[in-house]
Amino acid sequence: MKKAKYVFVTGGVTSSLGKGIIAASLAKLLQARGYSTTIQKFDPYINVDPGTMNPYEHGECYVTNDGAETDLDLGHYERFLNIPTSQANNVTTGRIYQTVIDNEREGKYLGKTVQVIPHITDEIKRRVMLLGETGEYDVVITELGGTVGDIESLPYVEAVRQLRWELGNDDTCVIHLTLVPYLKAAGELKTKPTQHSVKGLQELGVQPDILVCRTEHKLTPEIRKKVALFCNVNRNAVIESIDVSSIYEVPLVMLKEKLDKVTLAKLRLSSKVEPNLDSWKDFLFRLSHPKSEVTIGLVGKYVELQDAYKSINEAFNHAGSVNECNVNVISIQSEALGDENAAERLAGLDGVLVAPGFGDRGIEGKISTIKYLRENNVPFFGICLGMQCAVIEYARNVLGHPSAHSIEMNPKSKYPVIDLMEGQKKVKNKGGTMRLGSYECEITKGSLAHKVYGKTTIKERHRHRYEFNNKFIKEFKDNGLVMSGINPENNLVEIIEIEEHPFFIGVQFHPELKSTVDNPHPLFVKFVKAAQEKAKSR
Ligand code: GLN
Repeated sequence: MKKAKYVFVTGGVTSSLGKGIIAASLAKLLQARGYSTTIQKFDPYINVDPGTMNPYEHGECYVTNDGAETDLDLGHYERFLNIPTSQANNVTTGRIYQTVIDNEREGKYLGKTVQVIPHITDEIKRRVMLLGETGEYDVVITELGGTVGDIESLPYVEAVRQLRWELGNDDTCVIHLTLVPYLKAAGELKTKPTQHSVKGLQELGVQPDILVCRTEHKLTPEIRKKVALFCNVNRNAVIESIDVSSIYEVPLVMLKEKLDKVTLAKLRLSSKVEPNLDSWKDFLFRLSHPKSEVTIGLVGKYVELQDAYKSINEAFNHAGSVNECNVNVISIQSEALGDENAAERLAGLDGVLVAPGFGDRGIEGKISTIKYLRENNVPFFGICLGMQCAVIEYARNVLGHPSAHSIEMNPKSKYPVIDLMEGQKKVKNKGGTMRLGSYECEITKGSLAHKVYGKTTIKERHRHRYEFNNKFIKEFKDNGLVMSGINPENNLVEIIEIEEHPFFIGVQFHPELKSTVDNPHPLFVKFVKAAQEKAKSR
């Protein structure tokens, strides 16, 4: 049974400073020194979870094994630490209030007036402590979303203040991330925004122990001293976080800056064991020294936003490193594609991934893409909606049913090859009601999927309402579509493929969510390999 120590990561000056990556990097360094570490994220918005949010609002929605729809930072945590997260790792203001209001309705507050202080802050504190109380972790890192100074962040900062008081100085550490901008006209780095942001935190009763300063230029010793003096932290507690080309370099940059050592010293934990980062360095070396290159098209409808397909892009980085190959991912707006221009738009690509998604927009472009890939032997990888589109395409163009569709796009389709799951028909609420989380899948021996995974039982994560319609299974089978992955409990089709094709596979689940630096996902690894073959054959 371990007694956890708590690290809080807050942010100031602006959003998008990379709090999630700093938290994940620190966790990685502590883990590499032998401390069992986990990270959780608290988000100050009122949605109960990000599952109902448009990717344009919030980037990708990440899904955990236990079926929580979460912030995409949890993806970074898993990719860096190679350990799964769960519902407890992501908490929102919506969930906090929901719990408090439910308690109130149940009469748990015994007639008291229910207030932000103490009831909301108490619930925040309870949630902070949950992971630590499992006895599994030496260190729990809690990242507070939002920026210090936001009205909605106030209860969280107050909860941190109280926890520091309750847990004591040696068991807590507050790391504050700020921006040190460079003013071109003055030719100088400016520390005032950092000073103001720390002042904001101090006014709320929280003195940060460590400052991580995001900057485009190196911090001079004078700047470091100035920040330390005016923000009231030790000189070695001013950590430079300089822009780097890959997020995977950040742990090494933080190691050099001694973020882990300073944190451990603050928590009165030993830093004698040097971190073992051999496999991490190996990964980075292969990532930055590719021996070949492939160009992969990512066909989707949220392509304008970098964060919408975060896990897919990261899984390509992992697979690229394994194959010592630079994977050049080109985003292609599915709305701009059709039968008439697919050949021209997709020419020169070594493989195409058709992305997950919801709703009608861009669907025909995805189907035209798949037709082109199937007929021209270009490697195809379809994820979730991407797999469903492959089924529709096959029904229309091979089975000869032009009206084949998914019930999601055309509820009146005569050939509903993708149908709503039985259990979904009664569902009214949108939030948290899809088929979510990890499910088992049995793979047919000798199939492409079997070659890819090298085993016959796998577990993958899901997030969808619609499914392959088993009514049509025989017709598909008789006409060459291989159903190579089946859920053993309910016979749902989870993987489809085509034999006479160099690489054509569609999966109903989301393999990208399980790809990590230490454990790159085999589907991505083999897809990149197939793309390498395609590139060679040109
Ligand atoms: N919209 C589809 C469904 O709900 C696919 C979802 C997805 O791609 N994640 O089944």
